Amino acid sequence: MINGEIRLRFAPSPTGPFHIGGARSALFNWLLAKKHNGTLIVRFEDTDRERSTVESEENIKDSLLWLGLNWDEGIDVGGENGPYRQIERLGIYQEYTDKLVESGHAYYCYCSEEELEEDRKQSFEEGSNPIYSGRCRDLSPEDKAKFVQEGRKPTVRFHVPPEGQVMFKDLIRGAISFEKSGIGDFVIVKSDGIPVYNYAVVLDDALMKVTHVIRAEEHLSNTPRQIVLYEALGFKQPEFGHVSLILGKDKTKMSKRQGATSVTEYRKLGYLPEAIVNFLALLGWSTEREDEIFSVEELIQEFSLERVSKSPAVFDVDKLNFINSQYIKKSSPERIADIIKPHLVKAGFIKDENSADENEYLVKVAAEIKDYLSFGAQAPEHAGIFYVDEIQFENEEAAETLKSEEAKNLIETFKVRLSELEEVNPENMKALIKNLGKELSVKGKQLFMPLRVAITGKMHGPELINIVPLIGRERTIKRADFALKMAGH
Ligand code: GLU
Repeated sequence: MINGEIRLRFAPSPTGPFHIGGARSALFNWLLAKKHNGTLIVRFEDTDRERSTVESEENIKDSLLWLGLNWDEGIDVGGENGPYRQIERLGIYQEYTDKLVESGHAYYCYCSEEELEEDRKQSFEEGSNPIYSGRCRDLSPEDKAKFVQEGRKPTVRFHVPPEGQVMFKDLIRGAISFEKSGIGDFVIVKSDGIPVYNYAVVLDDALMKVTHVIRAEEHLSNTPRQIVLYEALGFKQPEFGHVSLILGKDKTKMSKRQGATSVTEYRKLGYLPEAIVNFLALLGWSTEREDEIFSVEELIQEFSLERVSKSPAVFDVDKLNFINSQYIKKSSPERIADIIKPHLVKAGFIKDENSADENEYLVKVAAEIKDYLSFGAQAPEHAGIFYVDEIQFENEEAAETLKSEEAKNLIETFKVRLSELEEVNPENMKALIKNLGKELSVKGKQLFMPLRVAITGKMHGPELINIVPLIGRERTIKRADFALKMAGH
């Protein structure tokens, strides 16, 4: 469907932390740009002066780069179609506004808020469409002069003749049409001289030669206004594709209540960027493939708008966790050590500044626990056994495994054999446990469970033969003594 040289754009409003839904739009654009050797532009729609912040801009840029979504033109990168912040483009917008007013497509409107409110009320009472009455469309020079004298600051309205329809073929949703009569003359420049989104976005897309506008479904209803502007300005219209909403698991709009919503939050929780990219790609897009793990290269190759669904996507955090756990498994212990470190610092297991030995130990711990993690913040739960001196039984069932005399005997003998061991390494540990079983005629659960609980307090976890060499002989014996005491021996 997409042929020729394509130019895409991602145009976030920097009014808060980078939302996961924005990241999905950015990703779809990025994938298309990569797949078709196109250009991706990133620019900021910052005309909302009250809500736009530098922190948000930084957060969006950092998050995009962290996800690996680089851009070819725009903010920070530059290009020949800048500036790439709307607030720096006011002169450009003004030029086109003058042209629209001159050609009769737009006019100054002096209506006050009270007058407009009165109009709205009246249409409501009459049950008619609350579109602008057109009062200022053909003001006489005298009326105009009067308003100016009163100090009224005009807005600029775009005139939409009510006949006919706006039709377009949405790349995701198919044929769409809107009655022009439902649009009404709308404001394109506010009384403070700042253009509204629907107007600025058209000029930006047109002047930046954007060929495909792929964005969130919430902008579908804005598209007819944008198309009538394209027509009046004589610009070539881009193709539009509106990607469906992302809903929470309970099928309501994704919100803070249901968990993290910003990319930064997921980053802080210890998710891997490539796992998030993989997961986001599957929010609305699917393939015939059964499995859900896609490398970025595979995504670039296989992604297409034809397979993006019209129905809302559901943000299933369990699926994200599954995908993330797969990427964690494949990652090196060194990388996972970096990811779990802040969480272990927070849990008080390690300090921010570590010696080389401590860092080496951390990498070994990461190697042992990474298969059990869905995301980094879960690390303390699994890593505690490598850092504490005194273990705690995770539950009554665990405590129970050490209460019998046989269990006590097993642990006591284990301690002796461990202290006799020449070198504590996984192979020797394996042999030790095997011989211990033979010596005391116990095997299976009877053998492993009391040992595991005495050393870790838990009934499941990494291999015992790896844990003991890591925490060391002395610590193991200390823990075993402490565990027996706790079990009432
Ligand atoms: N600034 C808009 C937003 O953040 C994007 C609009 C567009 O892509 O046209 O939702």
